[in-house]
Amino acid sequence: MGRWLVAAAFVVVAACAVNPVTGRHQLALLSAEQEVNLGAHEHPGILKQYGELQAPAVREYVARVGRQLAARSHRPELDYHFTVLDSPVLNAFALPGGYVYVTRGLLAELNNEAELAGVIGHEIGHVTARHGVTRYTQQAGYQLLRGVALALEPRLANWTQLSDLAFTATVRGYGRKEELQSDELGLEYAAAAGYDTSQLHHFFETLQRRERDADGGGFHGLFATHPETAQRIERMRALERARPGGKLVGRAAYLRAIDGIPVGPAPDQGRVVNNRYLNLRHDVGLTIPTGWEARTARGRLLLTPRGGGVAWEARMRTARAGETSQTVIQGLLAQLGSQAKAAWSRHPHGAQVADVEAVAEGRPVGVRITAWVHQGHVVVVTAIAPRVSFARIAPAFDQITTTLVPLTPREAALARPFHLRIQRVRAGTTFAKLAEVDPTPGHDGRWLSYFNGYEGAPRPRANDLVKVIAP
Ligand code: ZN
Repeated sequence: MGRWLVAAAFVVVAACAVNPVTGRHQLALLSAEQEVNLGAHEHPGILKQYGELQAPAVREYVARVGRQLAARSHRPELDYHFTVLDSPVLNAFALPGGYVYVTRGLLAELNNEAELAGVIGHEIGHVTARHGVTRYTQQAGYQLLRGVALALEPRLANWTQLSDLAFTATVRGYGRKEELQSDELGLEYAAAAGYDTSQLHHFFETLQRRERDADGGGFHGLFATHPETAQRIERMRALERARPGGKLVGRAAYLRAIDGIPVGPAPDQGRVVNNRYLNLRHDVGLTIPTGWEARTARGRLLLTPRGGGVAWEARMRTARAGETSQTVIQGLLAQLGSQAKAAWSRHPHGAQVADVEAVAEGRPVGVRITAWVHQGHVVVVTAIAPRVSFARIAPAFDQITTTLVPLTPREAALARPFHLRIQRVRAGTTFAKLAEVDPTPGHDGRWLSYFNGYEGAPRPRANDLVKVIAP
């Protein structure tokens, strides 16, 4: 069976190179060189959006595992780049040409090096089977759709503009066929590198648990369109039996490598606790009104009411020397070429407000801009609504904006990131006892047992290394 898999993969790779007109004609639209250029072009956008985890030892460890797999792949000649993104989201993806990404959110969930090899091998499979290239050729249709979205909600569309291609082609995942093929390729590469492949389906079990836990929010990222997880686990188990690989599991090596990584949102992304948004880096909090949805990114908060149509967005950054609320808003108005005059607002903390009218994709819109400089931080709020309903909606915008205030010491403590700590188990201890240091709601002993790959068992083995989440 294993040999059959290798053969199948070669057929696909060969087909796109030599026979571009037999139904796989899209595959040959980009040369290998163009693929590499595409990846290199999109890479800075990915780094800008997520940030790279500032932990050289973790980065080097992941790259070392990745290089071993790449060397045994169908395209060992590519120059692979392995990046650990500073994102709490559980995700992994690849760009054409050999750019492979895993998030720290994903690293925290894994329990050994073999599992990591399975995930990275899967992403290398997307690169070697040229799945990204296929998807690239389908972009034209997407661009059309995006044009429509832009016309309706210009600010929202702008939100998705960050590295569009990378997002649609890779972060949202591929079709079922491509995912299953990458599962096979990943397992094949992990086996060839000497890993015990019976570890590989554990990651899908983790996904399945997270899917169950997700309260309606579900997964975004590549897992959203992945095939039914339960079926995929069954299939992986069968593949693992057919190709057991070597003896390498690497639990201790893996856990030592990820000791200390942050867990949860980065300080400049902010954290939503109940109905409060808390941004530690820029020392600002606000109340999210009932019925509004919050999306966070580094230095950005987007609020939209259910039903959409309008948007309230805050961008936060560090202030430059001499900047005040007044200079910031004057600069923005000058940039827009607006004659509007900024007014002292009703906001108690000295923010400046100006209304400007604009035309977005042929539709007249009203925009209320608020600039607030405090303690070395700049917050710029852009609230946008169709011009016809602007006057009616503006009070709701103001109501949100007036809740912008510096964090209280208690909120600052809540906004602080947690860390993953690796501990050696003392005889007689239980997961319930170990979980006591974890302040996250719902993280009890049972949760910690699953988090450590113990399938709900109440006690870890004495002397084993385990993960706990602690402030
Ligand atoms: Zn995939």
